[in-house]
Amino acid sequence: MQEATRIIRSTLSAATPGQPLHAGPVFAAPFHAPGDPSETEYTYARSHNPTWTELEEAIGQMESAAGYEAHARIFGSGMAACAAVLGAVLRPGDIAVLPSDAYFAVRSLFAAHFEPMGCILRTAPTRAMDAPEVLAGARLLWIETPSNPGMDVADIAALAALAHTNGTLVAVDNTTATPLGQRPLALGADFSVASDSKAMTGHSDLLLGHVATRDPELLAKIDSWRTLTGGVLGPMEAWLALRSIGTLPLRLAKSCANAQAIAEFLAARPEVREVFYPGLRTHPGHAIAARQMQYFGPVLSFTLKNKAAAETFLTAAELVTEATSFGGLSTTAERRARWGHDLIPAGFIRMSAGCEEIEDLLADMAQALEKAGA
Ligand SMILES: *Cc1c(COP(=O)(O)O)cnc(C)c1O
Repeated sequence: MQEATRIIRSTLSAATPGQPLHAGPVFAAPFHAPGDPSETEYTYARSHNPTWTELEEAIGQMESAAGYEAHARIFGSGMAACAAVLGAVLRPGDIAVLPSDAYFAVRSLFAAHFEPMGCILRTAPTRAMDAPEVLAGARLLWIETPSNPGMDVADIAALAALAHTNGTLVAVDNTTATPLGQRPLALGADFSVASDSKAMTGHSDLLLGHVATRDPELLAKIDSWRTLTGGVLGPMEAWLALRSIGTLPLRLAKSCANAQAIAEFLAARPEVREVFYPGLRTHPGHAIAARQMQYFGPVLSFTLKNKAAAETFLTAAELVTEATSFGGLSTTAERRARWGHDLIPAGFIRMSAGCEEIEDLLADMAQALEKAGA
């Protein structure tokens, strides 16, 4: 069965006559649970909830492939999911390799809370994580590809194979691609982690994340971390997420086609200095991305000549909503350097292609680029 069909079918509740196609959210703290609690499927909602189960089964299936079955645990945000992997795996003295150019909050979390507890940080750029000295003695390798916001690409299969010869665990932050666009576990990663606040749910109105793994022991550690730290998702959000995932195949196909067209359009414009998108043949990671991704993703970055040009573009573009984050139905962009988190030029814009008609987007961007100037 094709992936889109599987995803859409997985969001339906069991076919019970007289019951809705999508069972409603289950609002509970305790559940009725007499006697021996191990005989009751649901006891207390910090540990489990039937609405979570439906969402986790849908995500677990998306993360699975021929030859293995993955299981997922959902969290109250992408960062709660990232923290679960770090917290469940790392102990004092352990070395973790994090990308120097990836999502800043993971590095900040490590520096603020894991380094003071005795974990050791080693960073390397996404493009150069395969150097032998990078992986030596590491407990955990964290990969983010395409990286955010630079759009660099790492070879997940090659890095996972290299890491496993050292006994290093591999986690991939798969937020940008979603499991429909790239399946890290099939490429050899031990954990697939994501913020599902982005393209996975895609309506810019939910905050959640997940961790998936094929290893039952690692799953038990992630599950225990969630129950004991309590970074859980409300049932209403879980229900909305399940509904949103049903349209992921439609949204991802359209937004990624739009991202490709926008990247090609920008690459030919005199106002644009550089375009970063793995779908472009000129991108240094294109061949690897083409091998390991089903879609190149909805996110691209580009640079205009300076801060003023970027600000003019963002103000003049009427169909580009100025906002952080990405993966939503509507096209958004921001001048990324305004946060001060990443080493990028002042005129650097990160854009997330939405699902609008491409003619409208390109016409709007053309007029905004003319105002920004070459
Ligand atoms: C947004 C994001 C996160 C954090 O997710 P939240 O849902 O905002 O907590 C982690 N990794 C990447 C790559 C992200 O883009």
